[in-house]
Amino acid sequence: MKFAVQSKGDPTSNKIKEQITRYLTGFDLIYDEEEPDIVISVGGDGTLLHAFHRYVHRLADTAFVGVHTGHLGFYADWTPDEVEKLVIHLAKTPFQVVEYPLLEVVIRFNNNQSEKRYLALNECTVKATEGSLVIDVIIKGDKFETFRGDGLCISTPTGSTAYNKALFGAILHPSLSAIQLTEMASINNRVYRTIGSPLVLPEHHTCILKPVNDVNFNITIDHLFLVHKDVHSLQYRVAEERIRFARFRPFPFWRRVKESFVGD
Ligand code: NAP
Ligand code: MN
Repeated sequence: MKFAVQSKGDPTSNKIKEQITRYLTGFDLIYDEEEPDIVISVGGDGTLLHAFHRYVHRLADTAFVGVHTGHLGFYADWTPDEVEKLVIHLAKTPFQVVEYPLLEVVIRFNNNQSEKRYLALNECTVKATEGSLVIDVIIKGDKFETFRGDGLCISTPTGSTAYNKALFGAILHPSLSAIQLTEMASINNRVYRTIGSPLVLPEHHTCILKPVNDVNFNITIDHLFLVHKDVHSLQYRVAEERIRFARFRPFPFWRRVKESFVGD
């Protein structure tokens, strides 16, 4: 089995990366950053986002596992104390895998026929490059509303505890293959009207955003910031691909939510 370790880059994470690499090579696993079967991310949820985008081209062949060197993460749920236990688990293959849904984003442009496709593990956000975002929201082919406000956020179930939560979106269990659309400060008055509530779309329900006037947008895909000009439309749906996490012990999602946000 081939493995890679992605560190956040701070001294603590680097030390644990070294330790994991030493243990696993001792168990005759091969360090291979190009084609790993398993990627161990050491740092935080942000580190796992980096690892995901580094290996997004080979999701079917790569499983992820996260160790947190700061606070408990949603993707990084192993503590540094558990590293020895984790490597022993890893060394005795095969491991169990759980799969979580991803968001597919297709951005189409006006000038040519080109399009860009992205996968997001947490979410995609859209904001105007200046002024308010004014954009038509089309759901399953029907115009739903014209949104005016700061921006829109489309998140995955595992991303629902990230930016989405700050926008008062619901927390979605990752066994639900769905995406969630939340608003950022919509303008609502006698002229402008949006639904206001977060919308949860199941598999195969496509949401398209179409510019009304301005065609330049600030778009984020997880931690990545992109500026896209001359945008014709943005299309969202549950992706065919899924992320695979190596599972060695149960750590139920709702317990992770409680430990992260409620405490004891
Ligand atoms: P960051 O600014 O360090 O991330 C913000 C916080 O979100 C960090 O505490 C991060 O955890 C946490 N986080 C990331 N994914 C999460 C998840 N799925 N569930 C719960 N918490 C999560 O930037 P980053 O580490 O590169 O992460 C990028 C993410 O930040 C974006 O995908 C977006 O979701 C989030 N974000 C949130 C807000 C907001 O809440 N208002 C605004 C902008 C962006 P770690 O410390 O473990 O990395
Ligand atoms: Mn972070």
